[in-house]
Amino acid sequence: MASVEVKNLSRSFGNHKALDDVSVRFDDGGFYALLGPSGSGKTTLLRMIAGFEFPNAGRIEMDGESVERVPLEKRQIGMMFQNYALFPNMTVSDNIAFGLEVRRLPKSEIRDKVREALDLVKLGTYGERKPHQLSGGQRQRVALARAFVINPRVLLLDEPLGALDKALRVEMQVELKRIQREIGITTIFVTHDQEEALTMADRVGILREGRLVEEGEPETIYNRPRSLFAATFLGDANILPGTWSGEGLVMADGKVIRVSGSEDRTPGATMQCAVRPERMRLVEGDTASSDNVLTGTVIRRMFSGVSSTLHVETAGGEIRVVVPNAGDSRLRDGAPVTIAWSADSTFPVA
Ligand code: ATP
Repeated sequence: MASVEVKNLSRSFGNHKALDDVSVRFDDGGFYALLGPSGSGKTTLLRMIAGFEFPNAGRIEMDGESVERVPLEKRQIGMMFQNYALFPNMTVSDNIAFGLEVRRLPKSEIRDKVREALDLVKLGTYGERKPHQLSGGQRQRVALARAFVINPRVLLLDEPLGALDKALRVEMQVELKRIQREIGITTIFVTHDQEEALTMADRVGILREGRLVEEGEPETIYNRPRSLFAATFLGDANILPGTWSGEGLVMADGKVIRVSGSEDRTPGATMQCAVRPERMRLVEGDTASSDNVLTGTVIRRMFSGVSSTLHVETAGGEIRVVVPNAGDSRLRDGAPVTIAWSADSTFPVA
């Protein structure tokens, strides 16, 4: 296993900067998810770590040693992509053994490693099948086994679950995480699925137009993103604009909102805060114990199974609140509601 660090990495295609001065460290044994909209540079970064592309500027280090000029086959990297191709006329075992045979390992060692890999991906009895005799999820496991059986220093996964339906995808997320933990391999995972990144990784980095805008542990980056882009890209967020009074955010209608972590701002400065809709709740009666309270009218209710999102018209604009579905039929359009939330859930974003 190895740590990987990229420093001030840039790569252009013609005039287009696919990666622009990106620095990020992937810890030894860590599971890092690279997240970002289409075209933000995720695959380009992965391809440069793998050695398919070369940077215009910057460094790529593995365990502190520069590898940006080391050819792909010498970097000891395992890879799995969305459109992974298994050899259709070879058995599952032979597919997994392929990389070991290329490396001319002794036959008995290959047999042992393939057996171990099959057990790890829970396909112990499937070794003699051909790929077309497997389900989508099983084929995915074979591709994964083939990537890690060569004992790589780093595992690169580019949208590996992208082709699976929702249920299978969730099942494979759990499996992939288990396998990654079991072998403790440094893993870099590219996805454009926010939930997938937050569930699986122990660190998440967000790319936008070739730049790394923010990174952190999943809970931190979700609960307290620093940028408006990360706040809205990682989930839904109510954005409250206003000015800093020294004690709180003053909205256009004069209402003061209690905020956490703005003490060093200059009074009078414009600012905006974000609040996740699930951090807001509906209250009735006494609101004295709540940091922040807004009243409004329900204008739309979006039902989504376990919860509903209420769109509420307030004097400060439209606010979205997520409420559990408890069969409360009073919350229909036009219903007057009071929304409350804590200063703790109200964070400034730039
Ligand atoms: P997606 O989620 O759609 O896969 P991505 O974040 O992985 O997107 P990249 O594939 O890294 O994005 O592409 C980043 C930018 O670089 C895009 O604008 C893309 O068109 C451009 N690009 C990538 N590879 C090449 C290439 N070989 N030649 C020209 N432009 C390229």
